[in-house]
Amino acid sequence: MKSIQIAIDGPASSGKSTVAKIIAKDFGYTYLDTGAMYRCATYLALKNHLTEADIPSLLAELADHPISFGKAADGSQLVFLGDTDVTLAIRQNDVTNNVSWVSAIPEVRQELVAQQQRIAEAGGIVMDGRDIGTVVLPRAELKIFLIASVEERALRRFKENQEKGIPTDLEILKEEIAARDYKDSHRKVSPLMAADDAITFDTTGVSIDEVVAFISEKAKEILDKE
Ligand code: C5P
Repeated sequence: MKSIQIAIDGPASSGKSTVAKIIAKDFGYTYLDTGAMYRCATYLALKNHLTEADIPSLLAELADHPISFGKAADGSQLVFLGDTDVTLAIRQNDVTNNVSWVSAIPEVRQELVAQQQRIAEAGGIVMDGRDIGTVVLPRAELKIFLIASVEERALRRFKENQEKGIPTDLEILKEEIAARDYKDSHRKVSPLMAADDAITFDTTGVSIDEVVAFISEKAKEILDKE
């Protein structure tokens, strides 16, 4: 059966990964969380006290500790660096607040984009990130750009963090999300932006089910035409 590539981009906590996971499951496609990969690179940088001046060492660390994904007993995604389970570690505040400088390093992007493109070669894929529609999968049949107000996104991340037991202050979270959006949108290489042919969808006040239904409908329209 024909399968397509679905690219879902957007700023922090715009609901990308939640809807991407559901759509991948419904369509039987692979789901790839590219943010987790930049978080892994950041984790390695912090663990080894590396800075922007240590790019070769960071690339060597990435080569020595390949990023892979697995599934927990409850069906949730697990992230590994080599043999180490970093699923929770990469969601901690220190990683979140350093990921923008690591993801702005061109050599890191080049390596991770190559890995992402290799994973996409296997067939039907739903990939979420910042540059999927523009750089990683420029020929994706369906490109969605999800946005939502900073207030709503901060509240979503606040609830997620509470569930994961990560201590969080809502006001600080709002500032951090706005700061991360700014850095991600203004970096030189592959900034966060909608592809020309992406459909922008504002999820403020919209339920997950409604967003999923909208994207699924678009995907089915494309598959029916193929
Ligand atoms: O999606 P998530 O919030 O986990 O992404 C973490 C960070 O990784 C983003 O703030 C951004 O700096 C970086 N990122 C990126 N390109 C992607 C996905 C994530 O630069 N495709």
